[in-house]
Amino acid sequence: MELVDSHCHLDAPEFDRDRAAVLDRARAAGVRQQVVPAVEAAEWPKLREVCRAADGLHPAYGLHPMYLAAHRPGHLEDLRGWIERERPVAVGECGLDYYVEGLDHAAQQACFDAQLRLAREFGLPVIVHARRAVDAVIASLRRVGGLRGVVHSWSGSEEQAGQLWKLGFLLGIGGPITYERARRLRRLVATMPLEYLLLETDAPDQPDAGIRGQRNEPARLAAVLDAVAALRRQPREDIARATTANAARLFGLPL
Ligand SMILES: [Zn+2]
Repeated sequence: MELVDSHCHLDAPEFDRDRAAVLDRARAAGVRQQVVPAVEAAEWPKLREVCRAADGLHPAYGLHPMYLAAHRPGHLEDLRGWIERERPVAVGECGLDYYVEGLDHAAQQACFDAQLRLAREFGLPVIVHARRAVDAVIASLRRVGGLRGVVHSWSGSEEQAGQLWKLGFLLGIGGPITYERARRLRRLVATMPLEYLLLETDAPDQPDAGIRGQRNEPARLAAVLDAVAALRRQPREDIARATTANAARLFGLPL
């Protein structure tokens, strides 16, 4: 079985002590490839080094809305250079976060829009963070147009999901699906078309119910796969095959 973790922050400092062991456990769990999205410009060089150091690690470069205070106007121009030179699999992580207080909405929007335009210009998918901001994200994607990508850590309604599918976007599903209280999410994942589903861990964040409160890691993608398979009453091999093919198609990964 071959899995792709479509969203893992393997470059995060939480993995500095034991990154090689984390990668070994991921491979043992069938996670052969990972998409590693960026959060801020100062960390792009480290992200590049981490992804160069092992097979199957694919960086995306971008400016995360939660790190707004670290972003400078020049970083968007730098991002263009990194995209041209490094040819990443995607632009991101970018998006809108209306949950964390103190993140200016207009500044987030300007930073997000600029990254969407870069993605369109380079024909790259976007990795989108949307927290309490799904409608605003959908409006942004419509306004810019000509985009494809994934809204990761999906938490919206079925209606919003349908709007995103029409726009050519997939939904990233991770640890939250393993919690019984995530009723709306579990209902959606049980019935949604498999062609729009990507598996992710968002490690080191968003631990599944089996490792509640602990550091998450890419090997835990197997727990996400198990939960999705159980909810859909489908063999886990079928879910693995379909979601791996989805990730390969979206990000242009080797299979
Ligand atoms: Zn993330």
